[in-house]
Amino acid sequence: MKINLISDTVTKPTQEMLAFMFNAEVGDDVFKEDPTVNKLEAHAADLFGKEAALYCPSGTMTNQIAIKTHTQPLDEMICEVDSHVFQYENGGYAFNSGIAVNTIQGKYGKLEADQVKKAIKLDYDWLPNSKIVVVENTCNKGGGSIYTLEELNAIGKVCQGNQLKYHLDGARLFNALVETGDSTAAIGSTFDSISICLSKGLGAPVGSLLVGDVGFIKRARKFRKVMGGGMRQAGYIAAAGLYALENNIDRLKVDNDRAKAIGSVLDQSNYVAAVKPVQSNIVIFDLIEGITPAMFLEKLAALEIHASAFGPQSIRFVTHLDISALMIERLMEVLSTEISSDSFHL
Ligand SMILES: *Cc1c(COP(=O)(O)O)cnc(C)c1O
Repeated sequence: MKINLISDTVTKPTQEMLAFMFNAEVGDDVFKEDPTVNKLEAHAADLFGKEAALYCPSGTMTNQIAIKTHTQPLDEMICEVDSHVFQYENGGYAFNSGIAVNTIQGKYGKLEADQVKKAIKLDYDWLPNSKIVVVENTCNKGGGSIYTLEELNAIGKVCQGNQLKYHLDGARLFNALVETGDSTAAIGSTFDSISICLSKGLGAPVGSLLVGDVGFIKRARKFRKVMGGGMRQAGYIAAAGLYALENNIDRLKVDNDRAKAIGSVLDQSNYVAAVKPVQSNIVIFDLIEGITPAMFLEKLAALEIHASAFGPQSIRFVTHLDISALMIERLMEVLSTEISSDSFHL
């Protein structure tokens, strides 16, 4: 039994999702004539109480388009040092937007309103113009940590008071919302723009959505085209996104609960030095000295369990739609009995 905890991006469409995709009505989306893409975009806008949305091939593209649309060269983006927009998008803020970055060391990947306030630059000729704040919810590198609505709104207030745009990298937003119970409308009213991934825990094979007001999305469409993201009969894949939003949100709680259970087992294991607090479907933990991630991953792989190294001493597990109860049972057994610090012959 192969157990793949490398990422929640590894999920494959179910028969039901495939049937829904197969039957999608399609047209040319570059001419805005794909009814299924139009339906998905309208649904997303509606969900967040925003005016419009844009379907894109990836979450990197929706983040990059948002940054590009909100900024001018010589501006700067304020974000947490571990954030995806800074760490994992090839420095796209500089490449695509010609802007600077101002990183803040937060806690478990989360920023605080006071930190943002202090990071805003004064208006001097020699300083970039602080223009956009990007927060990530859940925070991947923070161990899947979750912002409360209060924390998000406090940062939003700082943005409003300083003419800063406020963008949410919500690749795994719904993993957070099933925990906090906050409404999508409340999230929508907090941010200028929101990016969500359909291809992570929601289980669609591809696609992300960017939501915002009409003027913002109109300009975003141009940037999507110049980045090569204008797709034609995209309704076939957009249908998977619609299916995911309609069927796969509530079950994210299962993934979160399983990750928490895994975290508890790891907490009590003698080969683990520390586990980041588990709040959603990501478990990040440090191995004790002497056990390298390569050694640990090799042992897991021999048992058909696959995960990824996350830094020089850390491992990441991500739970998702294609992990069964049986797989979790087996994983727990391996983590609690078959692996111990002794098994590494230190
Ligand atoms: C996955 C992810 C993205 C977007 O990734 P793509 O692979 O480009 O779809 C953006 N932000 C976060 C936090 C992510 O985890």
